Amino acid sequence: MVGLLEGNVAIVTGAGRGLGRSHALLLADEGAHVVVNDLGTGLDGQGSQTLPAESVVAEIRARGGAASASHDDVASWTGAETLIRHAVAQHGRLDVLVNNAGILRDRMAFNMNEEDWDAVVRVHLKGHFAPSRFACAYWRERHKEGSPIRGRIINTSSEAGVIGNAGQANYSAAKGGILALTVVLAREMERYGVTVNCIAPRAVTRMTEHIFQGFGEDAMAELDPASVSALVAYLASREADHVTGQAFIAYGRTLQLLKGWHTVAEIDHPAGWTPAAVRERIGDLFGAASSRPGPLG
Ligand code: NAD
Repeated sequence: MVGLLEGNVAIVTGAGRGLGRSHALLLADEGAHVVVNDLGTGLDGQGSQTLPAESVVAEIRARGGAASASHDDVASWTGAETLIRHAVAQHGRLDVLVNNAGILRDRMAFNMNEEDWDAVVRVHLKGHFAPSRFACAYWRERHKEGSPIRGRIINTSSEAGVIGNAGQANYSAAKGGILALTVVLAREMERYGVTVNCIAPRAVTRMTEHIFQGFGEDAMAELDPASVSALVAYLASREADHVTGQAFIAYGRTLQLLKGWHTVAEIDHPAGWTPAAVRERIGDLFGAASSRPGPLG
């Protein structure tokens, strides 16, 4: 049977373990040649190892697929450019970019230091933008040459970026930024034949096993990263030509469609607003809606 991604070349960032590894294996099983990118860092972004990316490349090859390893730092401008060049040089083209690499440095805002803020925002937000920037430039060039383009970017946000998780100011802000970035890139790239979508996954990986351990063995088994990868493979395929600028929560047997911040009420003041007028009318704006953040999830 012909795979969904036969003849395609895909990059998956942070593919040396966890969700990225699972996406890389499935994309390869569906026929894509996969660039397995991973800097091999600790969960906090410290250190680097070549082994995680190399071992996923070996796994793909052992299953009969085609893959190559990249150890570029996706959050570095030159690392991102090298990554996109690597895909084209090694595999002849680029069709799919799955931005997935990530780290965590959780702290309450009042305890967070500058380094923890910068490191997390850098890897997630710049680490999504920089590879996308060079992939988009590549696709635009091919489009200008008259080549048919079916480009795909699949970004990775988090429910923390949708609702805002206490203790994760750096992570939630970066993940919220990735949702906005997805819409911007989708608008910019539509005319060039590139779709850009975003997932907010839930899966047991080294990043989350401490959280999900309390859920019991059945829930842990259901939250296998592989359950998220099916959506990634679909979005990467030609079947998903009509889906762009969208965001999905994906875990276990569940897929949810997200729709973002939008206006739910409006009030006007004929004479122009003053602080006293706002105080008087603010209840009309909220109506039955809560004036506090809702629960997470
Ligand atoms: P993970 O720690 O298992 O994998 C992340 C990988 O990214 C690691 O292998 C790491 O070496 C790599 N990496 C880190 N910095 C990098 C860099 N600068 N360049 C290249 N590679 C780098 O984590 P995971 O749970 O598989 O997370 C994958 C993505 O999914 C992350 O963006 C994470 O925020 C997101 N996410 C995960 C969950 C979940 O439930 N696991 C929930 C929401 C969002």
